[in-house]
Amino acid sequence: MNELISVDPDVRELLAVVQEFCEKEVAPRVRDIEDAAAIYDTDLLRTAAAIGLQGLIFDGEGGIEPAGFVPAHETNEIVASYSGSLALALSIARLHGYMLCRYAAPEIRDRWLPGLVAGEAFGAFAISEPHAGTDVRAITTVARRDGDDYVLDGEKSWITQGPRSEFAVVLAKLEHRGREADTAAFVVDLGTPGASAGPAEPLIGFRGVPLGTLSFSGCRVPEAARMRVDGFGGMLDGVNLARLDCASYALGFLRGALRECTTYLADREAFGAPLVRNPLLQAQLGTMLAAYLAGRHLAHAALGSFAAGGGDGVDTALVSAAKLVTTESAMAQSTVAVQLLGGAGVHTDHLVQSYFRDSKIIEIIDGTSQIHQLMLGRTAARLDWTAPVPGPRRRA
Ligand SMILES: Cc1cc2nc3c(=O)[nH]c(=O)nc-3n(C[C@H](O)[C@H](O)[C@H](O)COP(=O)(O)OP(=O)(O)OC[C@H]3O[C@@H](n4cnc5c(N)ncnc54)[C@H](O)[C@@H]3O)c2cc1C
Repeated sequence: MNELISVDPDVRELLAVVQEFCEKEVAPRVRDIEDAAAIYDTDLLRTAAAIGLQGLIFDGEGGIEPAGFVPAHETNEIVASYSGSLALALSIARLHGYMLCRYAAPEIRDRWLPGLVAGEAFGAFAISEPHAGTDVRAITTVARRDGDDYVLDGEKSWITQGPRSEFAVVLAKLEHRGREADTAAFVVDLGTPGASAGPAEPLIGFRGVPLGTLSFSGCRVPEAARMRVDGFGGMLDGVNLARLDCASYALGFLRGALRECTTYLADREAFGAPLVRNPLLQAQLGTMLAAYLAGRHLAHAALGSFAAGGGDGVDTALVSAAKLVTTESAMAQSTVAVQLLGGAGVHTDHLVQSYFRDSKIIEIIDGTSQIHQLMLGRTAARLDWTAPVPGPRRRA
């Protein structure tokens, strides 16, 4: 039988190393991590760094290596199938590094990038605020120019890794808080007076990566910390990468669900035969496999578009579709996976319940499902579906 998925020969070797790392070192720690011990209290990030996982998309000279996006995505799938939290921690290290390489002054990039790649420095990506989530224009964090510096005031909430971060990429309005104010992103050293982080919030999923608030009160940041891009535009570039990362976690949960369910049902006998031979359960596994394969092909098409432009000219409809379809499939299929394991499915000894908890979160972060539906709906309405190749409508 042919292999179901094709993987570049160069990447295969890396995947074998990652699979072994996950089986031997991640799997035995998952329960500690999920019991809120946090990834950072283990040596997993440093081992991942020794394999090279955080550095995959960087060229070693302060630039981006586009050929690294596919290996990053493939390795994430495997890692997420064991620990969503670890996949998230690795992905956000790459995301923060990506933002630094694309938009930060070289001295700022060189201050933080080596630590991110080594699994020793941690950053945050701070857009959301207590009263501004989906409606990003409603943010009220403001940066006012004062001599050679900017002075930052405001509060960011729901910030992944906030309680552990040494720096944060912060979106702020310039000079005033009005809805239409210009925006900028700043790389803020969280050791600066006036910057503070709140405690970790109790969440249902991704429990190994703490999340909390970041507050700025008269926090003075140098001009050099301002990123060289319009604030919204730069953040959206990062958010597109984060959406593709969400797709990779979702595919990891689908892959993990297939692995955990087929293994369990092959061992579990009922009515005199292994349950894996039951046609009703096989039909459910079939739908799960179809969801994984469909999501994987779509995600790779979206990833190709992102990698080709290094973030520029990315097909945002493809990225939205990949994020929406894979995360909704992960939610639906992890629910099935819990059911397929019966009582064992809700026991923390089994990974399926973690896919279920983490999947709900990836339907919310980086654009909720509704927002992706809206954006795709607008795209659909703009196209001419009567044409042989659906495309923009021709003017009469
Ligand atoms: C685990 C986790 C990690 C996160 N990490 C980060 C992070 O690192 N950095 C960061 O900046 N943010 C982060 N966030 C915040 C996340 O981006 C927001 O939660 C998300 O954007 C939704 O915003 P909200 O929670 O304010 O929901 P709201 O915007 O209040 O939305 C509530 C509901 O209304 C719906 N809704 C809102 N507007 C519309 C509309 N126009 N049309 C239709 N439906 C709509 C939404 O889909 C949702 O169902 C994180 C959130 C979570 C849960």
